[in-house]
Amino acid sequence: MNDSRSTENLPRMQINDISRYLGTAGSMIRSRLFTHTPFFLAHAVTFGCNSRCQSCTYWKLTPKMKYDLPTEEVFQLLDEAYAAGMRGYYMFGGEPLVRRDIGEIVDYAKHKGFVTVMNTNGSFLEKKSRELENLDFAFVSVDYFNDYDDIIRGRSGTFNEAMRGIGVMRSTTNAKIALVTTISRLNWTAIEPMAKLARGMGIGISFNSIEQSMDFGLTTNETTPNFDIGLSSERLQEFYRILLKLKREGYPLMETEKVLREYVEGKPWKCDFPKMFVYVTPDKKIYNCNYAYHYDLKEGSFSDYFSGQDFTNYVKEAESCNRCVRTCVRGYSYTYNMLPAQILGLAGQAKSLFNTEKPVKL
Ligand code: SF4
Ligand code: SF4
Repeated sequence: MNDSRSTENLPRMQINDISRYLGTAGSMIRSRLFTHTPFFLAHAVTFGCNSRCQSCTYWKLTPKMKYDLPTEEVFQLLDEAYAAGMRGYYMFGGEPLVRRDIGEIVDYAKHKGFVTVMNTNGSFLEKKSRELENLDFAFVSVDYFNDYDDIIRGRSGTFNEAMRGIGVMRSTTNAKIALVTTISRLNWTAIEPMAKLARGMGIGISFNSIEQSMDFGLTTNETTPNFDIGLSSERLQEFYRILLKLKREGYPLMETEKVLREYVEGKPWKCDFPKMFVYVTPDKKIYNCNYAYHYDLKEGSFSDYFSGQDFTNYVKEAESCNRCVRTCVRGYSYTYNMLPAQILGLAGQAKSLFNTEKPVKL
């Protein structure tokens, strides 16, 4: 195996990394000031998933894996995204690590010049860590601080696999790791313990929530179980208050204080999600943030889509949408608009994001 992690290679890797990060920041600024089109390709790389989370219906699409793009076509998609000005590549699924060629995809994206980010359930991190040397950020979904996580995620062993995988990734790759926890009625009491777990590991944590009224996952012909496990609007407000309290107590939450405070205050905000991310399905279709079909990239191009009426309407509607509860989307929108309190907040949590925080014994 090519030992690209040898000490003599490290300084060169770091210079390349800095130039890729600057490239991504530059593409964001170009989007904000000039093009108003996405700089991040959010690619569901596969329909497949090995878990059966109670909060998600995506795993039911696993038989559609036969429609996942073959390796060469993923490379072509990356070429097209790069030509359209994108410099960030966010891989999710399903579970991206079920793809046999995931290492090749990560390598190709990084060498092309993308910052590479993956959302994973962590179950294959230990097994595939050697293929993930070129991954910049791994966001690992863990919903509970012990193996009750297995019940929520519908498969035994998930918690231990994720913990072992994180350990191996941190000791053998340069990937920066953060936990992602989705709070529903199934794990309502886990908010603070999960924050403690992240602090104890010296990594960041981001919280999502499931609310009752919104779909989660690709659910074109499915009813979601959100009314059973989603948070009521009162619970949702309590959720934001707890996060704000934890943030102020110094826990390594990836949400900035500004985002959390404004959720607590019920302040309206302008969503710029469509200008930042384009969501592409495993079979190369563009969907909007609510998983509604927009465009088939096999029949056209990013630039055709971005200059069309569907995209224009989507951008306009998003600006006053205020509908979703994804703290990350609100944070990205604030960053995109370079709001000073957001930028300062991000600077303050760089240690968590880049895993340079010392683990805190609790
Ligand atoms: S939340 Fe992720 S890991 Fe869980 S079933 Fe859905 S796609 Fe799979
Ligand atoms: S606020 Fe609305 S437009 Fe923005 S990501 Fe959420 S649902 Fe989509």
